[in-house]
Amino acid sequence: MTIRVTCKVCRRLGFSVCGKMKCASRRKPYPPGIHGRRGSKRGRRMISEYGAQLKEKQKLKFLYGLNERPFKNLVSRAAAVKGADTTRRVIELLERRLDNVVFRFGFAPSRRAARQMVSHRHILVDLRPVTISSYTVKIGQSIQIRSRSLSLGLFRDLDLHLKKYEPPSWLLLDKDKKEGRIATSPKADEAESGINLPAIIEFYSR
Ligand code: ZN
Repeated sequence: MTIRVTCKVCRRLGFSVCGKMKCASRRKPYPPGIHGRRGSKRGRRMISEYGAQLKEKQKLKFLYGLNERPFKNLVSRAAAVKGADTTRRVIELLERRLDNVVFRFGFAPSRRAARQMVSHRHILVDLRPVTISSYTVKIGQSIQIRSRSLSLGLFRDLDLHLKKYEPPSWLLLDKDKKEGRIATSPKADEAESGINLPAIIEFYSR
């Protein structure tokens, strides 16, 4: 269920979703195939409302590395809660996915790598291995790297990395034990700043 996102996708969306530090969309902030800004007059098209909503949906979906079905299910789950702010619920459910939490703790360099860590049984939830990356982590649950796994090459540079890394404020992390918890409801700075979330809800409610 993992999808590979190249910077071609980032450039088409005009928004970095690949998780790389050196994303090509920052270097070439125009869609692939258009050579420089000169070509943009002909390349500029009127984007329909549907197309605009679709684009916002793709941004969020690719950012968290989800396929259409699980993403759609997540949005319906968020919309099913009466009285809740659906856009906030969508972000909360995305952020509380086990692979995302592992990534946010700084245990993995990307969500993609985090997903692999989860599926290879390196991650414990309340001391038990959980291999489902879409698992929704509850506030207070303990997430840690299995101690046996810590000797693997995969985690060789982790201490060094964690020393410099600061997780988001809604997470509590014990860097020595490689164990953390969700302290409060997640907030997503990254997604909320560059993505029109209401457009995504609109897309699925048509
Ligand atoms: Zn990119």
